[in-house]
Amino acid sequence: MYFLKAKGLYLQVAGLMLLLAGFLMFFSTSEAQAATFAQRMANMAEIKDVRVSSDKDKARIVLDTTKDVTIKTSVLSNPPRVVVDVQGAWISPEAKKTVNIGSQFAKTVRLAQFDPNTVRIVVESTMNANNRKFFSLAGGPTGHRLVLDFGNVSKGSSGAGIDFGKGGSDTGNTKPTEPTTPEPPTTNDNKPEEEPEKPETVEKPVVEPEFTPGISGKIITIDAGHGGCDVGAIGPTGVTEKSITLRIALELQKKLTEEGAKVIMTRNKDIEVSAKRERATDVEELQARCDIANKNNSDIFISIHMDSFTSSSPSGTTGYFYGKGTKASRRLAQYVSEGVVSSLSTGNRGTKSCNFYVVKHTDMPAILLETAFISNEREERLLNSEAGIRKAADGILNGIKKFFG
Ligand SMILES: [Zn+2]
Repeated sequence: MYFLKAKGLYLQVAGLMLLLAGFLMFFSTSEAQAATFAQRMANMAEIKDVRVSSDKDKARIVLDTTKDVTIKTSVLSNPPRVVVDVQGAWISPEAKKTVNIGSQFAKTVRLAQFDPNTVRIVVESTMNANNRKFFSLAGGPTGHRLVLDFGNVSKGSSGAGIDFGKGGSDTGNTKPTEPTTPEPPTTNDNKPEEEPEKPETVEKPVVEPEFTPGISGKIITIDAGHGGCDVGAIGPTGVTEKSITLRIALELQKKLTEEGAKVIMTRNKDIEVSAKRERATDVEELQARCDIANKNNSDIFISIHMDSFTSSSPSGTTGYFYGKGTKASRRLAQYVSEGVVSSLSTGNRGTKSCNFYVVKHTDMPAILLETAFISNEREERLLNSEAGIRKAADGILNGIKKFFG
């Protein structure tokens, strides 16, 4: 009896130890996975934006990336396309995905996350290997750039007369090399690789705005990110970014109106903002949002978004502002993101300088808020609830209140 009991006890203890060992293994494995993931994320390049320009000699596509990247080039026919796979990279949810270049050398560029590690860039172009030149450069708004030139690539860019040297090729796995000639001095902003600047993109002088205290009477444009055919990012259970951004925007509209602000909405239903609707290019759609803020002489512009990543781990709130813009934009980004962090209890990812279209092409303090990560299950659930929507709107409101003082 006693022996049996002791044996039972022994078995129980052994069972407990096995359980404990299992737990330890589980935790150390997931910790190791988290570490590997963090490492992988840190090693990946984020493609923040795509810019295009063209002149009589060539069409140029510049991708702003956070790291130097490795590319693999191939071609497709019907219609003729050049495919550039960027390895170890992911696209910012706010980067433009389709841009019309409208040049004889390259018609359009499209970006897509091909797999968790690869961003595929497809350029509609008839240019053969002799009429293409791909290379990477340090600098630019995010630290690195991948430049894709199509046309008479042996010529320097529009009077700049700089030969960037031979970079990249079309023979399989290639790392675009740094230019063989030294980079030109970076003391002025008019870097030749960003030429030609179109006349309408000449930067305006930065003028810090002055405001009377208080929200009452202020003109505030709220931009619910995405909409219509552009769903934005999609969460693990299928919640769309465009639906959450609209819900937060409508709640914020109500709260700001109660405070006496004049609120302008870029959209108040599930629709594209451009009059061209689903036929609009990314740039036309984003410009339509800026036009609404600019034409209404808005005091501030708030673009509401949900962040996303190729894995479910990242979480938290980020406030973006245009790096070459006003100090007021930076302050607005800080106050609004801090307001959201304290109201929603999300992690604080801080404020970041960016080149996003809507904050760059608006004439007033402007921010793009990544409220939380829709790719994170917990945050998707949080923002898909009435309480989450209310808290997000409260957080933004508190930030705006602090901004106007
Ligand atoms: Zn977005």
